Amino acid sequence: MNKIYNFSAGPSMIPTDVLIQYKKEFYNWKNLGVSIIEISHRSFEFTKMINECEENLRFLMNIPSNYHVLFFSGGARAQFSAIPMNLIKSNEYADYICSGYWSQAAFLEAKKYCLPKKINIVKINNNIKDVLPSLKWKLNKKSSYIHYCPNETLEGIEIKEEPNFSNKIIIGDFSSTILSRCIDINKYGLIYASAQKNISTAGITLVIIRKDLVKDQKSLVPSFLNYKVAVDNQSMFNTPATFSWYLASLVFKWLIKKGGIKKIEKENEKKAKLLYEKIDDTDFYYNNISKKYRSFMNISFYLKDEKLNEVFLKEAFSHGLYALKGHYIVGGMRASIYNAMPIKGIQKLISFMTYFEKKYR
Ligand SMILES: *Cc1c(COP(=O)(O)O)cnc(C)c1O
Repeated sequence: MNKIYNFSAGPSMIPTDVLIQYKKEFYNWKNLGVSIIEISHRSFEFTKMINECEENLRFLMNIPSNYHVLFFSGGARAQFSAIPMNLIKSNEYADYICSGYWSQAAFLEAKKYCLPKKINIVKINNNIKDVLPSLKWKLNKKSSYIHYCPNETLEGIEIKEEPNFSNKIIIGDFSSTILSRCIDINKYGLIYASAQKNISTAGITLVIIRKDLVKDQKSLVPSFLNYKVAVDNQSMFNTPATFSWYLASLVFKWLIKKGGIKKIEKENEKKAKLLYEKIDDTDFYYNNISKKYRSFMNISFYLKDEKLNEVFLKEAFSHGLYALKGHYIVGGMRASIYNAMPIKGIQKLISFMTYFEKKYR
């Protein structure tokens, strides 16, 4: 079989080395004679594995000791509710910066639990989506925290500058950009990410929270979403998604072996630049995001002649390029190129785009 490159937005590509290792040890994990998916989350070996997993993540992301590292079930969407429920009261304010589909979804969920203010930061000028820099965000003086999404997975909009509001708690939905570039955890009160993009398979959701923000258990917060309960139970109040957690531990080791986030950030930048250059190079394809805010993880592009969309996808697949269809809300194409996507996959996509243009122009 020819190598297939998987551009799916999530669940998405896992590093090949990690798949090989998991296959190798699947039937007999740590010489226990049983598989990782068959053992207790309270066993000695599993506990050891998750402790190392946290250590490795702390090392990779330079997470200070005044932050907890927690894992939840329920995906990033569960955190859309958990965050306001845990952090503020129903009559308190929060700022919700809206830059696309996911930040809007977080805002809509927060409305059930508090008084969020929606702040739109995307403006369309000459058919190009532009983003307001954080200095111009019109915040509510009374808000308890600011929530934003640094990488909008559907649209392919990425805010790479780290918001600087020293007097506010900043919360970021990092689901599709976590571990792709260096960030300064100290700037945030809480960051979270579902695993199925750049961490692991679907199942677990990472929450990194500053310790002083974890308050006593509020009676109405469901226990499995309660941050204090999670801290007190080492993220095991309910049975965690053990396989997803295990795979995450392999991915973190893989990242360390590759040279860490600084190194992977350079690679990601190179991969994205190559692809955007290709898109900008011709009027056969185009992208509609202002250059500074183009995502390095989810690269959206359109064919000028939309009637060719189906043919493009079909031929791409026959060339070993899988899942390039954009989300139906925005249409067009999307190449999700997370950490696991090798540069060869990008080169193959670019050659295909050149071939396709020659054939159908
Ligand atoms: C995928 C994604 C989500 C949703 O994650 P679930 O695990 O399906 O809840 C939320 N936010 C962003 C930015 C995403 O990319």
